[in-house]
Amino acid sequence: MVVFKTISDLRKYLDNCRADGKAVNFIPTMGALHKGHISLLTEARKDDAITVTSIFVNPTQFNDKQDFIKYPSTYDKDITLLADAGCDVVFYPGVEEMYPGGSDNVKVYDFGELERVIEGYYRPGHFKGVGQIVGRLLDIVAPDKLFLGQKDYQQCLIIAHLVAQRGDKAQVVICPTVREDDGLAMSSRNLRLTNAQRAVAGTIYQCLVSIQAKAGIPGDFAVVKKECEEILMHKGLRPEYVILADADTLEVFEDYMPGRNTMILIAAFLGDVRLIDNMRLEAA
Ligand code: AMP
Repeated sequence: MVVFKTISDLRKYLDNCRADGKAVNFIPTMGALHKGHISLLTEARKDDAITVTSIFVNPTQFNDKQDFIKYPSTYDKDITLLADAGCDVVFYPGVEEMYPGGSDNVKVYDFGELERVIEGYYRPGHFKGVGQIVGRLLDIVAPDKLFLGQKDYQQCLIIAHLVAQRGDKAQVVICPTVREDDGLAMSSRNLRLTNAQRAVAGTIYQCLVSIQAKAGIPGDFAVVKKECEEILMHKGLRPEYVILADADTLEVFEDYMPGRNTMILIAAFLGDVRLIDNMRLEAA
């Protein structure tokens, strides 16, 4: 496994790989890696392709400065995990490399309503930052396939939109959410939970499951949503949203909508750690 910190070194290496007829599969991350990230790499390795994992904590996608400052960093462990999992190339640039002269010099994209609803509403500007960094990474890596986790569902839609509007050749591959034994979606931010917080964090998953279990009876979602919010609060979480939305447009539904492809999406705070999760609603 090789690690590159500069764009020019990475490009040179990838150009040589392409000249040898290799495809490039890409997994963008912010580090503090866990089995969820590694599952994307494992999927990417199924092709006969060079796998590139980037580690870059992108400042422009953090609407909350404290969240950025406290974002975990476990570089040495990340490198070991990636090497053990068979990654070929790690791209580990600094901020100046990605935003020379500042982020104002790097293109931002418009995603319309998709960047303003749900996560976009609660984290204003977040998806502008995501689009900016992923656009830049796509320029640099020019992958054949791009591997993303369903855990960040709205981000998957945003990036698919980005790839389409840029006309990139990359195929977007969305991989299932990897969970802890109690159902908690693996996340770098879980490292910031205290033992007591970690013990109740699986409640978010339980709510997703119960919303699924009670699906199919129109008129019920308001009741189920309220129950979930109460359970979350009872366990010491502060729900930000518990919603149903169209799986393609993220139009928010007030109620179960039989016949519509629906996602259940939840965001909740535990202390100052904000956790998100989602599940596709299977027809009842
Ligand atoms: P992050 O480092 O949080 O920016 O995540 C990098 C990529 O890993 C994104 O595509 C995430 O959706 C994905 N990812 C994060 N957590 C998980 C998980 N628990 N299961 C699957 N993919 C994940």
